[in-house]
Amino acid sequence: MVPQRPDIEVLITEDEIALRIAGLAQEIAAGDPGDVLVVVILKGSFVFAADLLRALERVGVSPQVDFLTLASYGESATSSGKVKLIQDMSENVAGRRLLLVDDILDSGQTLVFARDALRERGAAEIKTCVLLDKNEGRQVAMEADYVGFEIGNRFVIGYGLDFAHRFRGLPYIGVLNED
Ligand code: 5GP
Ligand code: MG
Repeated sequence: MVPQRPDIEVLITEDEIALRIAGLAQEIAAGDPGDVLVVVILKGSFVFAADLLRALERVGVSPQVDFLTLASYGESATSSGKVKLIQDMSENVAGRRLLLVDDILDSGQTLVFARDALRERGAAEIKTCVLLDKNEGRQVAMEADYVGFEIGNRFVIGYGLDFAHRFRGLPYIGVLNED
């Protein structure tokens, strides 16, 4: 356990996250992923991906892994809508079955951008897995195949998610108190 902080309200605890990720791994395994390549969308999903990958190994799924760094323009707490490729992956995706892993599905722009880019490169199948789904925020049609938790339209931090590059190391998901 980490010390409780007066400035952060815990929304999803460490234990709840661990339990749900084990469930997600079972769902993915049940979907018969075969020779899947997991594509982790950085930066926000690095903590989630690390736990999900180990949960997958526990249920007998041993994927290859690669990383793609994407960013929305701007520093604001809401997505700007324009997605930029910061750093590309190194694996060839042509003919591959992919599982795209992201932290949050909000407006949908990030996942749509990644999916379309990888489809264009000839991926054979693209499935998507997100830890958090803010379905009230959607601006483009996008639903993930695997969703950890549905949450409301609040800005969350922790477990890989930052506010101005801080809080990524918190083991839980929380909300910053206003005062
Ligand atoms: P979308 O492109 O679907 O609007 O947004 C997805 C990206 O916006 C996420 O990958 C994440 O980086 C960022 N994002 C959306 N909501 C939040 C939030 O509540 N907290 C943080 N830290 N990032 C968010
Ligand atoms: Mg992100």
